[in-house]
Amino acid sequence: MAFGFAQAFRTFGKLALAGAIGASLAAGDVGAEQKTPSPGSAKGRFGAVGLPTQGPAQPIGFYAKGCMTGAVALPTDGPTWQAMRLSRNRRWGNPAMISLLERLSQDGAKYAGWPGILVGDIAQPRGGPMFNGHASHQIGLDADVWFTPMPARRMTAEEREDMPFTTMLQKDKFLTVDPRVWTQSRARLLMLAASYPEVERIFVNPAIKKKMCDTWTGDRTNLGKLRPEYGHDSHFHIRIKCPPGASGCTPQAPVAAGDGCDKSLAWWFTPAPWAPPKPPKPGAKPPKPPREMMVSDLPKACAAVLDATPVTSMQAATYGGASAASALTAVPAAEPAAETDGALPDLGPVPNDKPAIQ
Ligand SMILES: [Zn+2]
Repeated sequence: MAFGFAQAFRTFGKLALAGAIGASLAAGDVGAEQKTPSPGSAKGRFGAVGLPTQGPAQPIGFYAKGCMTGAVALPTDGPTWQAMRLSRNRRWGNPAMISLLERLSQDGAKYAGWPGILVGDIAQPRGGPMFNGHASHQIGLDADVWFTPMPARRMTAEEREDMPFTTMLQKDKFLTVDPRVWTQSRARLLMLAASYPEVERIFVNPAIKKKMCDTWTGDRTNLGKLRPEYGHDSHFHIRIKCPPGASGCTPQAPVAAGDGCDKSLAWWFTPAPWAPPKPPKPGAKPPKPPREMMVSDLPKACAAVLDATPVTSMQAATYGGASAASALTAVPAAEPAAETDGALPDLGPVPNDKPAIQ
């Protein structure tokens, strides 16, 4: 009977998600326009692969245009972390990313008063563009961490699907952190994450960046790594540098010197980023809709990555070895991809109809 209940629960969840998709469409959410990826598109191909390739870990291409080999999975559970939304099958990354997440979770508990981290999307088994939710996360060097602390107990797979995102913003004010939700331990966790030399950027909502600028009294050396970005109000997004020796990885320009509490932040508090696109001039040709990314648009090596031999099992490719495997095994991403679209973070009053520029 428990299974029946779970099924009913999931069905209800789907209905709720359908409503959410409708709502976001009405709001012009570009991420929700398409229900399923076109066959043969890069999203369709990479989203349909259930396991990573064998062989050494290599990021190929750029954060927002690439793929990867030799990914490892973050174990679904550790002493100081739990992986979320397991059905998405996106807890794969470069070993450098996975080990950083584990370290952050341990250091967070030790030094930031943060009991443990909830880890959201990292990447698909072979990276590549995702059907929903992200422009980047394509080469295994990006990961989302929730601003919600890990509960003291181990959550069920259902709970990990259904736990709602909690925004750090006030619902009735423009770009303002909610003082009833925001805590100093969250600030400490962010600055801890920014302190690792391999971490190059951390994307947070502009309101959160402003809060950090206004209130962080500790060492501000790494404050500039916190980058204001659309969304990112219920999770933060950690990006690490191309690991040493990753010759196929395209680096991103380092962040500008300074704490970033400057004009670049102030811009977010002007109408400019939130203004609707200008209507075309009378008589002008309507702009072409953006073309869907095909595998051939990615670095050449990515086509071969799709065809390469998979590892023998998810367990075999889980970071830390077979002991890390758990009963909460994810199902492959291809099948549930369409329904997860509605599970994008609730952005409250912040307009979310702009693609992430990451
Ligand atoms: Zn992200």
